[in-house]
Amino acid sequence: MTDFSNGAAWIKGRIVPIAEATIGVTDWAVTHSDVTYDVVPVWDGAFFRLVDYLDRFEASIAACHMNIGMDRTEITRALTDMVAQSGLRRAYVAMVAARGTPMIPGSRDPRECANHFYGWCVPYVHVIKPDVADAGARIWLSDTVRRIPHNSVNPLAKNYHWGDFTQGLFEAKEAGFDTVLLPDDAGNVTEGPGFNVFAVKGRSVVTPQDGVLHGITRKNAMEMCAANGMDVESRALPIAELMEADEVFLSTSGGGIIPVAQIGERRFSNGAAGPVATALRAQYFERLADPAYRTEIDYPG
Ligand code: PLP
Repeated sequence: MTDFSNGAAWIKGRIVPIAEATIGVTDWAVTHSDVTYDVVPVWDGAFFRLVDYLDRFEASIAACHMNIGMDRTEITRALTDMVAQSGLRRAYVAMVAARGTPMIPGSRDPRECANHFYGWCVPYVHVIKPDVADAGARIWLSDTVRRIPHNSVNPLAKNYHWGDFTQGLFEAKEAGFDTVLLPDDAGNVTEGPGFNVFAVKGRSVVTPQDGVLHGITRKNAMEMCAANGMDVESRALPIAELMEADEVFLSTSGGGIIPVAQIGERRFSNGAAGPVATALRAQYFERLADPAYRTEIDYPG
């Protein structure tokens, strides 16, 4: 029997163990990071908010002028078959639209590339380890690396342009922090590698609007804050305002709501997870179990 315990991939209609999944070296996905993608979580045997992730994926494909030749039903079928075959009940499920290889060898015209779709899934990924998140993450706010400007690479179309994040992660790790947040050139905070950020002050909560991916977990967080009676604003968030917040938290499909205990030297809630973020973290895990958001997967056997 094939071992899918490390994950599976769907490529050209075939489902293979993750270690056997490959794409060509001349694919612009590889040579130019020319990819748009999305990642939907599978939790206890069901996709979470699949429609929202597919909406964003299709909008990203259109923004990148790609045509993968598959409609939503076919994408859903591919992802469902792949996860079912993997047997993974908690998974990180990637759907990828790649620019592909030029159909005329050597062409520099992006319109002449054969766009294609593939998917892959691996056991659920926590961007911050759960025990660290429960206690409150320690974040490095980079002083030297800026987020790629949104008028250079559109952050709303989820992409593989991670040069800025990777440089920032080296800084953060070398300084002994869990992960990094990047500012823009105007002195506002943007986002980090795999997450959005929120600042809580009293009953108000603010998250950056421009220059960031509009995360599906960000949407969950905004909905949960509103349901908890908080005022929610999406707008520019100056670094000074972030540092004066009562609490800060991150949002990501890889682990939900992550309380922040510290940014650089600044400690929030005496260097622990704050009460608002801790409550939202629990509410997010309750949402993962809510049938209203779940698309159940029919596993073989
Ligand atoms: N920002 C970036 C750059 C990301 O890559 C991600 C997710 O991977 C997020 C924010 C959070 O988005 P979501 O909540 O949809 O996972």
